[in-house]
Amino acid sequence: MLARQLLGVGHDRNTTIHVGEFHAAVPYLDIPFDPTWPVEAEIVTGDEIRTVAYSRFPGCSRAFGVLEPLLRARGAVRDGSVGKARTQLVAGRAVIEETVALLASDPAALLCADPGCYRCPRARARLGRLS
Ligand SMILES: [Zn+2]
Repeated sequence: MLARQLLGVGHDRNTTIHVGEFHAAVPYLDIPFDPTWPVEAEIVTGDEIRTVAYSRFPGCSRAFGVLEPLLRARGAVRDGSVGKARTQLVAGRAVIEETVALLASDPAALLCADPGCYRCPRARARLGRLS
């Protein structure tokens, strides 16, 4: 079982949620979090070096905290501590399944409300055009 341990942070730092976004295939994955991010990378395989263009980007995670009550309702969160830091142990599968289910019911559920965010307002505008 793949488990995610959040140490002193909330689900707004839970990168497994990005995997759920990809599985849900929300229609804004091509919008980068920041337009200055690289759009390609070199992949080295043995002696071969290939340049691969990114077609999907992990985006803004400011609103990812909306998943915590859903994960808790499912019994998927085990709380603990390390020193003074609060920890949450969560099964990665549960995070991905809850993310996909949430985005199926509301594709905008993980978009933040910050008007200064590069990605979320653009994603909302795209979703508005699709509905
Ligand atoms: Zn945002």
